[in-house]
Amino acid sequence: MVRTASLEELGWIAEQSRRLEGCSPEEILTWAVERYFPRFTMATGLGPEGCVIISMLAKIEPRSYIFNLDTGYQFRETLELRDRMNEKYGIQIDLQRPELSVLDYERLHGGPVYTHDSDRCCHDRKIAVLHRVAMDYDAWATGIRRDQSPTRADTPIVKWDKKFGLVKVSPLACWTKKDVWKRILDEQVPYNPLHDQNYPSVGCQPCTRAVQPGEDERAGRWSGSTKTECGLHTGKD
Ligand code: SF4
Repeated sequence: MVRTASLEELGWIAEQSRRLEGCSPEEILTWAVERYFPRFTMATGLGPEGCVIISMLAKIEPRSYIFNLDTGYQFRETLELRDRMNEKYGIQIDLQRPELSVLDYERLHGGPVYTHDSDRCCHDRKIAVLHRVAMDYDAWATGIRRDQSPTRADTPIVKWDKKFGLVKVSPLACWTKKDVWKRILDEQVPYNPLHDQNYPSVGCQPCTRAVQPGEDERAGRWSGSTKTECGLHTGKD
């Protein structure tokens, strides 16, 4: 069962979020680690923001449990990036997988589900997996930035994530895309080579395309449909 927060806890979280506004991502992560480790985790799709947070966590608390939701549909480049991150930072980014392999899942449904019901596919191959992992933790970090899309513009630094029953910490909420890439280049943080091929946001291979000049950085995700989020970071689902 998904944990709920008391009114007192919700008030405390809102207060912490206000207090941490204006702090650096490292200060925010340090606060989260001091407060929640070892029941602190991070789910990463190994995007630029995730890689930057991992590089910070590797210094602050390298024993933090970091995992990737391995849907079975990820790009080869994403999985190779995980290996490079592990090697560079001496950490182990775990792969959390759905119960059914892609083969068994598609056999059960008579073919790929993403072609006609991407919400169902994201639920089965991401959301359900995160629910399973979340039960063992009290807080999680995400790489959300406010300037990524209109749906992310109001992201607080800390909030109660009622969908997963966790405190959700967004240390890069106030950073811009430029800030993220400056850190990547300054500190030579590994990143997905697809970003150099007009894929600013990389998800699963069947649901991601390159973007055209002037398009929103998430325009290549579920292109051609009204879907903009997998459901990890929305109240939906
Ligand atoms: S992004 Fe596409 S392939 Fe990946 S889980 Fe969602 S619908 Fe399925």
